[in-house]
Amino acid sequence: MEIQPIFKKAARQPIIIAGPCSAESEEQVMDIAHQLAQSGNVDLYRAGIWKPRTRPNSFEGVGTIGLKWLKRVKEETGLKVTTEVANRNHVFEAIKHGIDVLWIGARTTVNPFSVQEIADSLAGTNIPVMIKNPINPDLNLWIGAIERIYKAGIQQIAVIHRGFSSSGNSNFRNEPMWQIPIELMRRFPDLEIICDNSHICGRRDTLAALAQKAMDLNFDGLMTETHNNPDKAWSDAKQQITPFVFQDLIKNLVIRAETTNDVKFLEDLEGLRQQINVIDNELLTLLGKRMALAEDIGRYKKNNNISILQPTRWNEILEKSMLKGAEKGLSRDFISVFLKAVHQESINHQEQIMGTGLTAKASS
Ligand code: PEP
Ligand code: MN
Repeated sequence: MEIQPIFKKAARQPIIIAGPCSAESEEQVMDIAHQLAQSGNVDLYRAGIWKPRTRPNSFEGVGTIGLKWLKRVKEETGLKVTTEVANRNHVFEAIKHGIDVLWIGARTTVNPFSVQEIADSLAGTNIPVMIKNPINPDLNLWIGAIERIYKAGIQQIAVIHRGFSSSGNSNFRNEPMWQIPIELMRRFPDLEIICDNSHICGRRDTLAALAQKAMDLNFDGLMTETHNNPDKAWSDAKQQITPFVFQDLIKNLVIRAETTNDVKFLEDLEGLRQQINVIDNELLTLLGKRMALAEDIGRYKKNNNISILQPTRWNEILEKSMLKGAEKGLSRDFISVFLKAVHQESINHQEQIMGTGLTAKASS
C-alpha cells in the first residue's frame, strides 16, 4: 500500500483535531468553532452528527441538519471539518455537504460488512478517511479496514487510536494497549497516527498526561473532544474540555525530537542498546531452555497419566515471582502478564507432547 498523508505537518508539529463529541445546535457548533479557530493551530474541526450510542434512548445525533452547520463552520472560520460516517447514506450526505475528511468509528471498524459498505460508497471519490481502531484489541481487523478503504481507491488515510473495550476495573474508559498502535506504526511507518485521548481517558483530569504520553510514543497528533459547556454536553460530558483548557493542554505539551545528530548522544545510546540486545538474547535462550524442560515434564506426565495443569504449583510460582519481581522494581501487573504468557507457552508445548495441541491462535 502507498498511503498518502492527510495532514502533511512539519516534523514534530502535532496534528490537532478538536471539536465537540456531538453537534447539538447551530449556536453550539459555531461557538466552539470560533473559539478553536482563534488559536490558529487546529487542523481539523470534529463534530459527530450520527452518534453510535451504547443504548437506545440516548441522544443519537442531530442527523443531516448538522452537516449544514459544519458547512457554515468552514465558510466562517476557514477550519476544515470532519464527521463520523457509519453507512453508505452517511458517506453520500457528508460528501454532498463538503465535509473535508471522514472518520470511521470504533463500532464500525469492528464490522467488515459495514467497512466494505463504506468502502464501496467511497469508490470514485478521493475524500481522505481516518480509521479508528476497532473496539476489540484486534490489530488485523484494524489493518483490514485500512486495506478495504485503500482498495476502494482512497489514498489519503490516517488512523486514530481510541483505546479498546475491556471488562474489569480500569482507570481508562478504553484501555490504550499501546503495543497495538506501536505495532501498527512499525508495520506502516508512513501512516499518520492520531491519539484520541478523550475516548481513552473518559475523564478530564488525565487528558493532558495521556496526550503527553502519546507525543512521547511518536504519535502524529491528537483528537480531543472540546465543548463550550462541557458539563452540559449531550454526550460524553465527563471527558470534554473547553477550547481554553484544550489550548492550555497543547501549550504544555513537550515535543521531544525522535532522534538527533549529536554523535556523543548517539554513541551512548548505541552502547546501552547493545547491552539490551545482549540481555534480550539471553532472555530468549533461557526461555527456550525453560520450554525444553517443560517438554521433558510433558513426556513424564504423559507416561504417568498426569494432567498438564497443576493449579497449586502455578499459584506458588506466580506469588513467589511477584514478590521477587517487586524486589527488582518490577510491577505485579508486569510479572503477572509475563508469567502467564510463559506459562501458556509451556502448556502449549506440553499439549503438543500429549498430542492434544490446539495451540495455533486463530485469525480469520
Ligand atoms: C466519537 O469520536 O465521538 C466516537 C463515537 O468515538 P469512538 O468511535 O471512538 O467510540
Ligand atoms: Mn465522544
